Amino acid sequence: MSSLPKSIRDLSIGGKRLFLRVDFNVPIKDGMVKDDTRIVEALPTIRFAREAGAKVVLASHLGKAKGSPDPKYSLAPAAERLATALGIKVRFLPDCVGEAVRQATAALEPGEVALLENVRFHAGEEANDPAFAAELAALAEVYVNDAFGTAHRAHASTAGMAKHFAADARGAGFLMAKELEALSKVKDDIDRPFAAILGGAKILGKIAALEALVEKADVVLIGGGMANHFVAALGLPVGKSLLEPEGVPIARKVIDRCKARGVKLVLPSDFVVAPSLERAGEAKTVAMNALPDAGAAFDIGAKTLEMFRRMTADAKTIFWNGPMGVFETKPFDAGTRGVAEMMAASGAFTVVGGGESVEAIHQAGLAEKISHVSTGGGASLDFISGKPLPGVDALR
Ligand code: ADP
Ligand code: MG
Repeated sequence: MSSLPKSIRDLSIGGKRLFLRVDFNVPIKDGMVKDDTRIVEALPTIRFAREAGAKVVLASHLGKAKGSPDPKYSLAPAAERLATALGIKVRFLPDCVGEAVRQATAALEPGEVALLENVRFHAGEEANDPAFAAELAALAEVYVNDAFGTAHRAHASTAGMAKHFAADARGAGFLMAKELEALSKVKDDIDRPFAAILGGAKILGKIAALEALVEKADVVLIGGGMANHFVAALGLPVGKSLLEPEGVPIARKVIDRCKARGVKLVLPSDFVVAPSLERAGEAKTVAMNALPDAGAAFDIGAKTLEMFRRMTADAKTIFWNGPMGVFETKPFDAGTRGVAEMMAASGAFTVVGGGESVEAIHQAGLAEKISHVSTGGGASLDFISGKPLPGVDALR
């Protein structure tokens, strides 16, 4: 097991220019930040850095900017939101490299904060271009990465630039440390019994996580679109339900592996089906072996939810990734909401990871009742899968 990176707490940052990579990849609408969770999550590190007298240079990516400036993905609204949260002026710089940026960052006073424009406005970011990484690194004397959500990407601002700083001048922020600590409790230091609940749409993107969790969990509960693949693997019809054919043999393997390991694999016993999402009014519940040819499973049924409750009742640790149904469309939100409530009411150490799963937890207003809500979807799954996180490794 590799050690944790140095904490910002152990670095000498007073009076120094600190490059702080944050994850301000927030949803923006009409020039306003729609959900500021990610900004709020970064505040402890930013406040600590200011109080320690650092000259704080913040950097982030936003949206799907493709290597050139795109006003739609400007971080300007995030700078405004951050200024309000901190109650201070935040200098927003219209680029992240170049002479003007160098001068502006060099002029910062201890405790002052600047936010650079979207690093993905330069192709060198995602390409992890050494020259671009060197330019970013030249802006500061200390490098701290607090962007757990992008830690699974080897980009210039998350990985490439780190090597320009000495081992005692680079480290992790508080959010990064909190994520690594919480997620290691569903990876290495597991309090058992350990239940893993998996759902969502992308079985192919989650194979590694699925396989890793099958090796660690005592109970594996499957819902959402992922469940259809298990139904098909049992030779049962799935009608028009979401199905990636390559996912079926994977489900088969998981079934066999659970048997071999003595892991309880809990598949839905009933589903809520409808002819289409548009015809949600015709939704009805059917048994798992009776999915109609002309319908699709859009949620787990009430009996399944009840069984999930029973099967996780004595769990000491529960990890959940992936909604149980198309929770964006009523009434197919019931299964996801039910699992969210079950997690919230549990006395276990509970962790939720994954973009849409986390959104569902916030929608249900239950985030405070979960032990750890991860800010990283792909990063949390990669970490649990035992894959390297370039953004963490670069700090060591
Ligand atoms: P996460 O972001 O939490 O990792 P995914 O991205 O894998 O989860 O999947 C989220 C999506 O899965 C949701 O938008 C939801 O509508 C969809 N989904 C869940 N269950 C089903 C289903 N039975 N059929 C189709 N889509 C589903
Ligand atoms: Mg998703």
